[in-house]
Amino acid sequence: EKQGKVVGNGSRILVFVRLRPMNKKEKEAGSRCSVRVVNRRDVYLTEFANENDYLRLNRVRGRHFTFDAAFPESASQQEVYSTTTSELVEAVLQGRNGSVFCYGATGAGKTYTMLGSVENPGVMVLAIKDLFSKIRQRSCDGNHVVHLSYLEVYNETVRDLLSPGRPLVLREDKQGIVAAGLTQYRAYSTDEVMALLQQGNQNRTTEPTRANETSSRSHAILQVVIEYRVRDAAMNIVNRVGKLSLIDLAGSERALATDQRTLRSLEGANINRSLLALSSCINALVEGKKHIPYRNSKLTQLLKDSLGGTCNTVMIANISPSNLSFGETQNTVHWADRAK
Ligand code: ADP
Ligand code: MG
Repeated sequence: EKQGKVVGNGSRILVFVRLRPMNKKEKEAGSRCSVRVVNRRDVYLTEFANENDYLRLNRVRGRHFTFDAAFPESASQQEVYSTTTSELVEAVLQGRNGSVFCYGATGAGKTYTMLGSVENPGVMVLAIKDLFSKIRQRSCDGNHVVHLSYLEVYNETVRDLLSPGRPLVLREDKQGIVAAGLTQYRAYSTDEVMALLQQGNQNRTTEPTRANETSSRSHAILQVVIEYRVRDAAMNIVNRVGKLSLIDLAGSERALATDQRTLRSLEGANINRSLLALSSCINALVEGKKHIPYRNSKLTQLLKDSLGGTCNTVMIANISPSNLSFGETQNTVHWADRAK
């Protein structure tokens, strides 16, 4: 079933779409549903402009797209985790790197999918839970060490969400690009993690005008690093390190509006450089290009060792069912379609 696009040295990009339920506000505004998800795979988009269109178009299924999987509004957090990310957790336990992104407009369900709530924990928490349970199943579980870092990229400034303070400087060392002074929180169990992540999320930058709302321009990156020792074929003890990066991206609405412009012409403009640079890297990987432009933004520098190469990459495109968000939904689905 799951195919994905094989890029570079045999790494894969898997692309998923998740439709969230219609919310109260959308219902009260008399929204119609402009998205259908069929067979856990197919997405149909239909814009309902007025009552006549609705009656007419309801009989046709609309523009069709297909993905590695598509989740209807009824899909559970566990189903989304199992289908999109559990294989990556397995790979990370073999010493590989991988990343999972949630992409979409503000309000489309990215933070719900990634972080979720205490009652309905999302991919970040379920991944850590699964990781600890898989470690416990190993005979040598005692030598596994798990570290978490949680950071934000906002306006090309990197901040530590576990220890808020001055911006972090990115440095290149022999292991790659590192954020100097970033907290590496040693985690021993899942229980402590949800509170830690909720707290970290509270530390995300807010818009000055709306103090309680996370800025739509903020990217949150959770990095889970697992280290353990194994014996290789020659019976030497070797250290293995795997890294899983889980990213709640900034809202895609502004970036999409300026999609046609080049990064250079966007200098100083009020857009999200990191989001555009990520799109460029994904497109370059999908097209099999040799040069991947990681250097163009803080986000792509931070994720250089987790995107492309032998890494597995997962994209979850979040969309709203309401026809009031049809333009953004269409942009997100097209973006996801290009990442395949
Ligand atoms: P984003 O992070 O993309 O801006 P959120 O994740 O904050 O969007 O979602 C917006 C609102 O919709 C939140 O109140 C969230 O709880 C709700 N929501 C999103 N996805 C779902 C879902 N699959 N099921 C139930 N509620 C959801
Ligand atoms: Mg959010």
